Amino acid sequence: MPEHVLIILNQPSVEAPAHDPKAPSFTIADVGRPQLSVMDLAATRGDGIFETLSVCGGYPQAFDHHLARFARSAAMLDLPVPDLVAWAGAIRAAVLELDAADESFVKIVLSRGVEGAEAPTGWVYAAHSPDHAQVRATGISVVTLDRGYRHDVASTSPWLLAGAKTLSYAVNKAAMREAARRGADDVVFVSSDGILLEGPTSTLVFRRGDTMVTPDHDLGVLDGTTQANLFRFAEARGMHTAFERPTLSELLGADAAWLVSSVRLVAPIRRIDAVDVPMDSALTAAMNDDLLGLRE
Ligand code: PLP
Repeated sequence: MPEHVLIILNQPSVEAPAHDPKAPSFTIADVGRPQLSVMDLAATRGDGIFETLSVCGGYPQAFDHHLARFARSAAMLDLPVPDLVAWAGAIRAAVLELDAADESFVKIVLSRGVEGAEAPTGWVYAAHSPDHAQVRATGISVVTLDRGYRHDVASTSPWLLAGAKTLSYAVNKAAMREAARRGADDVVFVSSDGILLEGPTSTLVFRRGDTMVTPDHDLGVLDGTTQANLFRFAEARGMHTAFERPTLSELLGADAAWLVSSVRLVAPIRRIDAVDVPMDSALTAAMNDDLLGLRE
């Protein structure tokens, strides 16, 4: 069985001009062969959306949440409406094709397609995940970086697509390189008016007493699937959960903080802007165990 799998969606959208519900909705492709046109707007403009799902013990995690977010991102970019039945089938097929591993991931991509062709491109790529055990145990150092937008950017300037999972991650990657230049592992973005937002590829969560806190979704941050699972976990343990507009001083005063995301899962923060902060190793381990054990 292969260590990575590529599936091309034949009809990624329900709005395709010649949409035929009886035609096979996807084709398993050769990962080693070129597949994407150099004129695809995914490549030339980053004009599209994606999702990355964790696969634990063969089960894609937060399946419905990822697909709902995919559809919402498509709507925010005025992309053709994704055929979620076809995408769900392709994701499950990719996972079945993949050589069994404890932790894998599936990345799904929908682009506006080849320039001028008026037909979206869609594919599903599945592979084994890198080993994140070390980082889950020892933690990460982060720096706060100004994202350059106010906290209300999602409502004042929806064309900036804050909160959509677009393919345009060059800025997020640049922020990660800036973190590395400053000797840190990761980033917490801050709005230009001082509200903590999210990481370039993760959601910020922190614990204040018995309350788990995350930045409010109306701050133009991604509605995180991992954070949602962790809030369910916390509530099942009798903890409280809250969506807030946190500031750096609140984060520095927290009992523990994490950057959480699919694939890497829960990464405890041990240092913020060169200040050591407390970690809650027992809770971190319990949260990662819970996520790894989910069989949705
Ligand atoms: N925020 C951003 C900007 C992201 O790119 C991601 C994941 O890639 C997340 C948050 C975390 O989302 P999830 O937990 O659904 O992976």
